[in-house]
Amino acid sequence: MAAAVASANPANRRRQQQGGGGVGKGKGNSNSNNDEQHTVFETSPGVEAIPSFDLMGIKDDLLRGIYEHGFEKPSAIQQRAMLPIIKGRDVIAQAQSGTGKSSMIAVVACHMVDTPIKDVQVLVLSPTRELASQTEKVILAIGNYMNIQAHACVGGKSMAEDIRKLEHGVHVVSGTPGRVCDMIKRRTLRTRAIKLLVLDESDEMLSRGFKEQIYDVYRYLPPEIQVVLISATLPNEILEITSKFMTDPIRILVKRDELTLEGIKQFFIAVEKEEWKFDTLCDLYDTLTITQAVIFCNTKRKVDWLCEKMRSSNFTVSSMHGDMPQQERDAIMAEFRQTETRVLITTDVWARGLDVQQVSLVINYDLPNNRELYIHRIGRSGRFGRKGVAINFARTEDVRILRDIEQYYSTQIDEMPLNVNDLL
Ligand code: ADP
Ligand code: MG
Repeated sequence: MAAAVASANPANRRRQQQGGGGVGKGKGNSNSNNDEQHTVFETSPGVEAIPSFDLMGIKDDLLRGIYEHGFEKPSAIQQRAMLPIIKGRDVIAQAQSGTGKSSMIAVVACHMVDTPIKDVQVLVLSPTRELASQTEKVILAIGNYMNIQAHACVGGKSMAEDIRKLEHGVHVVSGTPGRVCDMIKRRTLRTRAIKLLVLDESDEMLSRGFKEQIYDVYRYLPPEIQVVLISATLPNEILEITSKFMTDPIRILVKRDELTLEGIKQFFIAVEKEEWKFDTLCDLYDTLTITQAVIFCNTKRKVDWLCEKMRSSNFTVSSMHGDMPQQERDAIMAEFRQTETRVLITTDVWARGLDVQQVSLVINYDLPNNRELYIHRIGRSGRFGRKGVAINFARTEDVRILRDIEQYYSTQIDEMPLNVNDLL
């Protein structure tokens, strides 16, 4: 893993220089836009890789939890980012999907907590309720032996339960911005002991939809707060605003052409027209159920439509999106995590951060609306170096978009081969 993350993926570079064999074939492969700005944000000098959790000065009862959770050795990003965070530095960390960034948040959150003090000391914010809850669970698992109290403070759940938990005493809150802000303003979530703020999927958190809410929360935090930003994607315009609330941050970044995971094979199927996507998906059903698959559509309505249409053709599928009641979302997540369902049709609510190790196939029924989402979506498979396949349904007018993605990430998206099942 370490080598995969740290190396500059020379194979992709080479293909790029030779003109490639994927959708971009035959066209100029220039990807120079914005490259000059990128060099500003390289890994800070002096960042060292610590090859073992034992050497990081982590508390013993936490170490026990880490190993028991199945983590033997820190991943490349964990080796580099964990120690600066533990030492109290502001950190911006970027690495591929599935390389242990959110897990690292869980570990450092536990480490920073002084358990006898029953106040909230670490606040982790995530863009979706499911991701915030997932992080809460990892914190509880890893922090098991240190008796950590963590709580997922997310929308769509009972406020009374939030209040009860918070009043009982919680060390770490992992939440979504809206509900956290609410709880802070009601003074149920007291902020005076918070020493660390972590934004997971931070580019999403600092983009239009969330930015105001994040600043709103930030205003209530102690002025000396330590801030950590994490994401697989950190576009320049986001990095530029970090100076507003971070102090001399350490940057640990990989370049975008190292972002597409080597373990994830990317393909397209030329469907020509929208109307042909459905039959194409039905033909793939056996492939979808080899392990588990996530199918992305661009709208909630389309998710409902596709789910209904698949079911009426006697295929077993489940679906999830942000207009469903939270209880239903939770039930669908639980079934999918327990492998009771195998095929999940969803929106970009599922694009970021969610970790189900069995997912080995991602289908873009619709191509995503931006380059960042593409990387996050396909990163739902191939978790922590596992095998993964991404298949893009490409209408004639989509070929241009795929070519753009291919060039931007210096990767290759080939036509789907007949033996795709062997790759899962
Ligand atoms: P990211 O946030 O970078 O996408 P996650 O933290 O969600 O990655 O981790 C992806 C998967 O890798 C999870 O299933 C997690 O349990 C596992 N994982 C994380 N760190 C380690 C480690 N050091 N050793 C083994 N597995 C790990
Ligand atoms: Mg993550």
